[in-house]
Parts: sequence; structure tokens; C-alpha cells
Amino acid sequence: MSPDLNILPENIFQILFEKSPGSLLIKADTPRFTILAVSDSYLQITATTREAVLGKGFFEAFPEEESHATDERAARNVFTRVIETGEKVDIPTYRYDVYNPATNMREPHFWSCSNVPVTNSDNKIVYILNTVADISGEVKAKETAIESENRLRLATEATGLATWDLNLVNHNFMCSARMAEIFGHPPGTIVTVDSMRGQITPDDMENIIRRSFREAIITGEYLYEVKILWPDGSQHWIKTQGIVLFNQNKQPLRMLGTILDITENKRDEIRKNDFIAMASHELKTPLTSLKAYIQVLTKKTIQSDDPFINNALVKAGNQVNKMSDLIYSFLDLSRLESGKLQLKMQPFDINQLITDTIAETMMINYNHHVDFIPGSAITITADREKIGQVIGNFLGNAIKYSPKDSTITISSRVSDNELQVAVVDEGIGIKRKDQEKLFQRFYRVENEKIKNISGFGIGLYLASEIIQRHKGRIWVESEEDKGSTFYFSLPL
Ligand code: ADP
Repeated sequence: MSPDLNILPENIFQILFEKSPGSLLIKADTPRFTILAVSDSYLQITATTREAVLGKGFFEAFPEEESHATDERAARNVFTRVIETGEKVDIPTYRYDVYNPATNMREPHFWSCSNVPVTNSDNKIVYILNTVADISGEVKAKETAIESENRLRLATEATGLATWDLNLVNHNFMCSARMAEIFGHPPGTIVTVDSMRGQITPDDMENIIRRSFREAIITGEYLYEVKILWPDGSQHWIKTQGIVLFNQNKQPLRMLGTILDITENKRDEIRKNDFIAMASHELKTPLTSLKAYIQVLTKKTIQSDDPFINNALVKAGNQVNKMSDLIYSFLDLSRLESGKLQLKMQPFDINQLITDTIAETMMINYNHHVDFIPGSAITITADREKIGQVIGNFLGNAIKYSPKDSTITISSRVSDNELQVAVVDEGIGIKRKDQEKLFQRFYRVENEKIKNISGFGIGLYLASEIIQRHKGRIWVESEEDKGSTFYFSLPL
């Protein structure tokens, strides 16, 4: 024996046992299970004293609740199993309530327990070493996490949202059960990224989904609406919204978000569009004949001496033209929304188109100076009428939103394989927060100054759709009370 061990106190193993974490030694004297030794920390966590438990039967010291009697994790059953099998039995979580003298109540506690058989020289189990650790904190934390997850799940289920999570590194995809229903499958069907993509048209896949994905990787936000085809052949619409999580090197790692079925709203929108289309169509017919009558009358009265009649007919003609422009823009809107807006591509001289549009606009607007600075002569291939409509909208707005006698400058120029057209005004300008929204459908700036200027907020929306369909860009630069410049560019 080494000299060091000689200087250890005789009762060293008892001291060690008493200082060990959560230990209790019981005799294998079924059914009493007499307590032979107990550590300080065991006494502390079970709120008892050595005198109160030593020499007592285990269940005298720690009475079991009636309801636990059949529970295979109940202490009596576990001790019996240790003796019968001769093997260690672990109970990862076990509830045993402990009396708290401060509150005078038994409070719920959760324990992780281990029961090790201890044998004598005849290999007979004589003791059981019972060790416990109080894991109430961990159990509580887990319960809270489960509770909050359940709450979130219930809330998302109540709103009809499906949730999804895509790992961009290993392409693992997870989604909630609701996803199957949104994509028209029976409950329980496994939905994968590929199965969802298979329900989207190749065009939408390229123009909506891949585009939104490319943008999301830059902006961190993912948002789009797209049509899906259910297995039964019916059309539905979904709205996807999500965020991208990046690592420290700004590399995208994960994308997660929600999907909402917006079919009802879309069908509502389609009905509204159909109504607009029908109403505009019905209005167009009487207006066309009104226009024809005014033209005939104008011709017939051309020699009239009455200046009032001449003047009134010119004004009536102008008002009819204004109204038919409006009706055509409504028709365009509904054609656009229903995907029926066709481009008629043809080569034409852009400077000539700008000159013609200015002349047409100035026929009914006399109060502004319009300068045109043409760039080098160029023939572009585009829908002449639609591009003329965009220029007309820019010019009409410049007139509407700038003071009498101010100057409006239109310019065209060719650079870097693109044509750029700009319309500059000296008008009321646009706040930065409104600039981003101008190109949205029905958006009009809320401003006292323009309260009395009529408009529907569809001109710039149509312009932006027309330019986008030409794969061009449209944007604005503006300063409040100084003026605005509206631009569009077309690839050459
Ligand atoms: P509308 O002029 O018929 O309302 P638009 O879509 O053409 O519709 O324009 C949307 C909004 O953008 C306008 O209501 C106006 O608030 C703002 N806007 C457009 N052009 C100009 C401009 N040149 N100067 C100031 N505000 C403008």
C-alpha cells in the first residue's frame, strides 16, 4: 500500500459518499429497502435530514403516490427490476414532488435517476446505489419550448398558413402538414420542392420564382404570388413570403417562411377585372359614335361664323378624346391582369414617336413649354403604340403635376446598348417614400396639393408593366418642390 493512502482517514469512503452528488445506498431487503447511507446533496435536493431517513425503509422516508403504483418507472418497480435482472436501470425523467418548507407545499420536481446493483462476494445483490439529479429546470424549459411551438402552430393553422424551411447548403426541405392541402393533395402527402415546382408553369417558374429567388439572395426577403395547378386540374393561387438567413460571409444558408392560399382573393380580383373590362367595353361603343358625330359636326360647321360653335366642338372633341384615353387605359389594365395584353413588335424611329406624342399631347394642353432634345437617330423594335402610351403618360403627368408656364424637357439617348428616354419637369416633386410605390396599381400620392387633380393611379402601373414586358427598366428621380424626372430604358 502506498504511504499516501495510509494517511487517509479511516472513514474516507463514508465521507466521499456523503459529499458525492445525489447518492443514496439502500439495502436489497425487498420490500423495505432500508436506507443505509445518503449524501448531503441528496438530502438537500429532497429537503430532508439524515436523521429523518437513515435506517428507515425507502418508502417510509419517501412515500410514493398511489397513482404511481403501476408506473414501471415507480421506484418500487425499478428497485425490484434491478434485483431481478442484476442490471443497472436508468430513468431519464421521473416526477417526484418535494415538500418546500418556505411555501409549505409539495412542489413538482423532475429527476433523472440511476439505480446500480451492488453485489457481495457470492455475487448476490445486497445493495442498490440510487443516484438522482434534479432536472426540473431542463424539463420546464422543454415544456415552455413545446408550449410556445404549439401556440405558434395553432396560430399558423388558424390563419391557414403553411410554414416551410429550406436549407440552401444541403437542400433539405421541411414544411408543415398544411402544405399538402394548399397544393391540393390528401392530408399526409409528403410535399417536396420538386413536387411543388411540378405544379407551376415553366414560364412562372422562370419569371416569378427564379427571379424572386435571385432578388431574395440579395435583399434577404422573398415574396411572390403565383398560380399553381392542382392534381385535379383546377387553378389556385398562392402567396409565398419568407426571409433568407446568411452566414458571416454574407452567404445564404437557409430560407424560411410561409405560404398562403389566396385563391379566393384572386378569383375576386378576376371578377373585378372582368367587370372593368366589360364596363369599359360597353362605354367604348357610345363614345366612339359620339366622337364620330363630333367629327361630322366639326366638318359641317367649319364655315360657320359662330366662333362659339367652333370652339365648343373643339372642346367637346378634346373631352371625348380624354375620356376614350381613360377607357382604353382601363381596358389595358384588365387585359394586362388577365394576361391578354399582347405586344405588337415592329421597328420604328423612337425620335419620331416622341415628336408625334408631344404634338398629340399639346393639342389639348397649351400651358406648358415642352422641349425635346433628341439623341442620335435610332430605330428600335418594340410595340410602337404601347411605348407611345408610356411617353404620353410621362408627359401627361409632367403637365398635370407642374405649374402653368413651366418647362418640360424630353430627351432620348443611346448608351451601353440601351435606349434611354427621360421626361423632366419643374413640378411638385415626389417624396422618397412615395417614389418606390408610384408604379404600383392604383397608387396615388396623398398630398393636399394634388387633391383636385383627377387620376386613377393606373398610368404608371401600366407604363411599368409595358416596359417590363419589353425587358426594360423604369424609374424616377425626384425632389419635393423642385421637380421630377421619369425614365425608361429599353435594351437594344
Ligand atoms: P394618376 O396620375 O392617374 O393618378 P399615375 O399612375 O400616372 O396615375 O401616377 C401615380 C401617382 O404618381 C400620381 O397620382 C402622382 O401622385 C404621382 N406622379 C406621377 N407623375 C408625377 C410627376 N411628374 N410629378 C409629381 N407626381 C407625380
